[in-house]
Amino acid sequence: MTTQLFGGIEGGGTKFVCAVGTGPHSIRAEARFQTTSPEETMALVVDFFKQQEKNFGKLSSIGFACFGPLDPNPDSPTYGHILPTPKPGWTNANVVGMLRNSFDIPIAFDTDVNGAALGEWRWGKGQGLHNFIYLTVGTGIGGGAFVEGKLLHGLLHPEMGHVPLSHDKSKDPFEGVCPFHGDCFEGLASGVAIEKRWKRSGNTLAKDHPAWELEAEYIAQALSSYSYTLSPQRIILGGGVGSVGHLLPRIQQRTKELINGYIQSPIILENIESYIVNPGLGDRSGMLGAIALAEQAV
Ligand code: ZN
Repeated sequence: MTTQLFGGIEGGGTKFVCAVGTGPHSIRAEARFQTTSPEETMALVVDFFKQQEKNFGKLSSIGFACFGPLDPNPDSPTYGHILPTPKPGWTNANVVGMLRNSFDIPIAFDTDVNGAALGEWRWGKGQGLHNFIYLTVGTGIGGGAFVEGKLLHGLLHPEMGHVPLSHDKSKDPFEGVCPFHGDCFEGLASGVAIEKRWKRSGNTLAKDHPAWELEAEYIAQALSSYSYTLSPQRIILGGGVGSVGHLLPRIQQRTKELINGYIQSPIILENIESYIVNPGLGDRSGMLGAIALAEQAV
């Protein structure tokens, strides 16, 4: 019996992380590339995997968890393409096609956040759950949902970062940064929004800066909405902003206050610390999620 070996690609807006392995403790090789043009970036990705096949033998499959919006529906004519995006050069890029030109093996393609959700289900805080959400709050905001034991796609894929929130302009006059909606969740609470509102990067803001109370408020509003609509058993909150240590207890507390006893489940009423958690895989959920996507594609 030959050992299976998987390739994983976490395609982000600023960098691509590629890895070869079978899980968190068996990554054989890993590389990072700047996200430039699709042609240039994907050529580096292809070269990386070709080199690893020389080192370790043929890959069984590749999982590609990519920034969106994208088309993850294998029956669609634009499957594997990036959909219209403000990111220059990437609109309609056939990124899966660029891999297929070089690799005749199964390729799984999904959103970065669905990939991260699958990674957490396989090896992190989603283990054993049938319904949960993975939300990243970083430069942008996005969420992946695992529903009744599978990743949720729906019409295209969920866009949890763009839900409208209650925006009290007397407390927060900032108009938001989303090019489509202005003050949606991402427009108000992403790392970019924090930096633009306070004229400083989030990681330079002290614990007691008012930015964090506002941030906890917006994240808690979104988490309470997701709790009502998808009824997750857990919400895993990652990303550079979402993983700020002192923010988590405020978000837990505020989400519980907003739900106000309406969801009658002990995990929310008595154990909110187990309901909203940071990722078990730290900042590796995305890359390992891509490996998990590959594992499922075989
Ligand atoms: Zn938006």
